[in-house]
Amino acid sequence: MVREGLITQEEAVFRVEPNQLYDFLVPRLIEKGEKIEVLATGLPASPGAAVGQIVFTAEDAVKFHSNGAYRTIILVRGETTPEDIAGMEVAAGILTSRGGMTSHAAVVTRGMGKCCVAGAGECTVDENAKELRVKGQTFKQGDWLSLDGTTGRVIAGQLKTLPAQPDDPDLVKFMSWVDPVRRLQVWANADIPRDAKQAVLFGAQGIGLCRTEHMFFAEDRIEHMRTMILADNEKDRREALKKLLPMQRADFTGLFKAMGSLPVVIRTLDPPLHEFLPQREDLLVEISHLEDTKPRSPKLKELRPLLARVQELHEMNPMLGLRGCRLGILYPEITEMQARAIFEAAVAAKSKGAEPHLEIMIPLIGSVEEMRHQGAIVRRVAAEVFKEKGETINFLVGCMIELPRAALTAEQIAEEAEFFSFGTNDLTQTTYGISRDDINQFLPAYLKNGIFKHDPFATLDQAGVGLLVKMATAKGRNTRPDLKVGICGEHGGDPESVKFCHKIGLNYVSCSPFRLLTARLAAAQAALQEKQTGPDLHSTS
Ligand code: PEP
Ligand code: MG
Repeated sequence: MVREGLITQEEAVFRVEPNQLYDFLVPRLIEKGEKIEVLATGLPASPGAAVGQIVFTAEDAVKFHSNGAYRTIILVRGETTPEDIAGMEVAAGILTSRGGMTSHAAVVTRGMGKCCVAGAGECTVDENAKELRVKGQTFKQGDWLSLDGTTGRVIAGQLKTLPAQPDDPDLVKFMSWVDPVRRLQVWANADIPRDAKQAVLFGAQGIGLCRTEHMFFAEDRIEHMRTMILADNEKDRREALKKLLPMQRADFTGLFKAMGSLPVVIRTLDPPLHEFLPQREDLLVEISHLEDTKPRSPKLKELRPLLARVQELHEMNPMLGLRGCRLGILYPEITEMQARAIFEAAVAAKSKGAEPHLEIMIPLIGSVEEMRHQGAIVRRVAAEVFKEKGETINFLVGCMIELPRAALTAEQIAEEAEFFSFGTNDLTQTTYGISRDDINQFLPAYLKNGIFKHDPFATLDQAGVGLLVKMATAKGRNTRPDLKVGICGEHGGDPESVKFCHKIGLNYVSCSPFRLLTARLAAAQAALQEKQTGPDLHSTS
């Protein structure tokens, strides 16, 4: 219509629904003329389509992918954990029977641009029997399923798909109208160079969140990570960390290379340590089996202390337990190792002509004292590395604001934090008191009864969580007027939430690479709307 002179470019920018842009970046199901048998409807956790043969463990996914037995694979799990990452990498799509919009499966697949239907409660996933039971039917390993991550449908059989079209000339043209009008910057959540490069192609202006823990799950690292966790003294822990240091340094070097002079926000270790260890139940089963069958097996000597440590680390509520900055306070050597890897990589990148623009972010801060503690470690290590290498890099140390107390005391926290990034996944969890992994138990009823208009983990609750975001931004800038503020929770790619971030004056939103186009368009629409109607001074914001 713009080409035909019927509407202006600005009108075109207004008319496109931001979420529609996602369709260009992922495959879609071809349904026309097909008989569609919907088996279940779960959460549309990561859009796009996947058609493949089902497997029930990450190991089977890797096996059948590498031996070529299955052409495309759908990984079916009760829910995924970080241990499933290798299987998720090779699968075309993921189906889980439990979990919400910010569950592990949802967050990871959105980062990969891979289709995911999560929390499909009508499905019973029996991982031991390798069976999926739904609507009185049983699907076994190797059976075909089609997933629609845009609507959450699980469909029987093998539909065809339309491939992604990210280079569609009309899309490229349209995006060239979008960017000049927006004020809000759009950054990406990316942990590895491959995703960072993808993000730059989709227009990212920086990396707003590199979750360093994802780097520790790789096969060659998990063993050192486990040794580090199992160590019962600082000396042994430092020894194991020394082995991880060069690997982390290489990760960061790759990221700096991919991002050139664009900003990169690297977050120190966040999840509870037991996520890196085998499951307690699995260990119990393995040990009792060995005790019955091979009581002299040397493996028992290895497994018993492992079980003891897993039991020690067991928490009733790990999301509110020993995680985030609490880890770095109990074990400062972890933060030290990560800071050293970051600064050494940055210095090396600078010596090769790059200009790394570096920000180090501390997770789950609840008080200024925690920020001071961790900030001091990062700054001390920076000074040490710069002295050793005879080179200096500019950097910022800031924190995630993802606990209500951090938002309420943002004025104090900004004395120590040089930037804020709102972790609205955890902030929603802790403000509402709703587990981000278990919301699906009652979300459908809440939506049906009109108690929620949206899933609050998908679209920011502006009246409550958003108010905390707005308040903390103002408080932080009271202390530090030039405080850079962004958001890196999943809401950073949701159009309504992006518009809210524009309204309250954030500097950037950071989202999965595949949601960048959506966020760019939503930010442009917010700016155009403001141009037409003036700033919205009376909104909840
Ligand atoms: C968040 O809590 O919003 C966040 C970005 O961190 P994570 O999802 O890794 O907890
Ligand atoms: Mg968080």
